[in-house]
Amino acid sequence: MQNADAIVVGGGPAGSTCAWKLRREGLDVLVLDRAQFPRHKLCAGWVTPESMANLELVEDDYPLSFMSFDKLHLHYKVLTARPATRQHSIRRFEFDDFLLRRSGATVIQHKVIDIRRAGSDFIIDNRYRCKYLVGAGGTACPVYRRLFEERNPRNHALQTATYEQEFAYQWDNGECHLWFFDDGLPGYAWYVPKANGYLNIGLGGMAEKLKRRGGRVQDYWRGFVSRLEHHGLLRVHDLHPTGYSYYLRGRSDLVADSNAFLVGDAAGLATHDLCEGIGPAVQSGLLAADAIVSGRDYSLSTVTKLSGNSIVSKILQRAFAGE
Ligand SMILES: Cc1cc2nc3c(=O)[nH]c(=O)nc-3n(C[C@H](O)[C@H](O)[C@H](O)COP(=O)(O)OP(=O)(O)OC[C@H]3O[C@@H](n4cnc5c(N)ncnc54)[C@H](O)[C@@H]3O)c2cc1C
Repeated sequence: MQNADAIVVGGGPAGSTCAWKLRREGLDVLVLDRAQFPRHKLCAGWVTPESMANLELVEDDYPLSFMSFDKLHLHYKVLTARPATRQHSIRRFEFDDFLLRRSGATVIQHKVIDIRRAGSDFIIDNRYRCKYLVGAGGTACPVYRRLFEERNPRNHALQTATYEQEFAYQWDNGECHLWFFDDGLPGYAWYVPKANGYLNIGLGGMAEKLKRRGGRVQDYWRGFVSRLEHHGLLRVHDLHPTGYSYYLRGRSDLVADSNAFLVGDAAGLATHDLCEGIGPAVQSGLLAADAIVSGRDYSLSTVTKLSGNSIVSKILQRAFAGE
């Protein structure tokens, strides 16, 4: 049996941030992830300055693909707004690996299946034992399923469906574009250039709304790609997008049970306006680590619920997550 003070299930931004903070406080931390890092993660890779600050990452010191945008291009039908802002793009393939290495935790590739309590400890798959257990395994997190799902079931009205691809591409247009509600999509489409010749394009929408309309997010892909081609933003045809689903923040924040904690997508924390998940993942990882170290309650009350604070954010919130 391998022992650790804390075991973190999942090495994405939520898990690696929690592990990093716990290691800094001197705890012995083991991260179990079913994937070998660096691993592919479906994500547009938009990162906010707030997340960079929470991760104590200075732009110039991040050694991998990193781009900044001083404005966004927000498209709705024939209208385009270009609000001034400062946002960033990273490649999750690199970013997550960087954060996990930086955490200083021991990382083992292992798919967690069984979790049981033994007194005040947890035993995982009869191989790993810990006092503190952090569920950071994303939407299908086994800690969520085993310890939280029954009392805090997912609200399917808050489930997203996404379809996207990131690929090597010499883009000409180095700006970030978002198209809202195109062809009736209950969500938005994105074009996010990455440094070092990569591009991420994709679509996301609310799964139940799509289902009620008798459609799937995939149905919007062809029209989206045509639009990109029409605007001269894309010249390739051989694309193979894939999908993933995650949850926006629900009403219930049941995310701690004695020494077990949920962080990031495992807790379903994405924002209601732009479906941002990295920021809440990082914030919740820090808060869970703080609760473990200090013995204080783990509360998500300070975790971002909306990415923006404008009237547009409120409109998007109603359009996406209005139940
Ligand atoms: C298409 C798409 C685009 C997105 N774009 C953005 C964006 O641009 N900006 C943004 O802020 N958010 C975006 N998001 C949301 C964001 O990607 C997530 O909210 C974020 O990755 C959550 O981080 P996490 O650490 O909680 O989970 P993850 O990053 O999903 O990490 C979970 C980890 O758990 C591991 N795991 C799962 N099950 C097990 C198991 N049984 N045993 C061991 N390990 C396990 C997985 O291998 C994985 O490494 C997007 C999501 C999608 C799907």
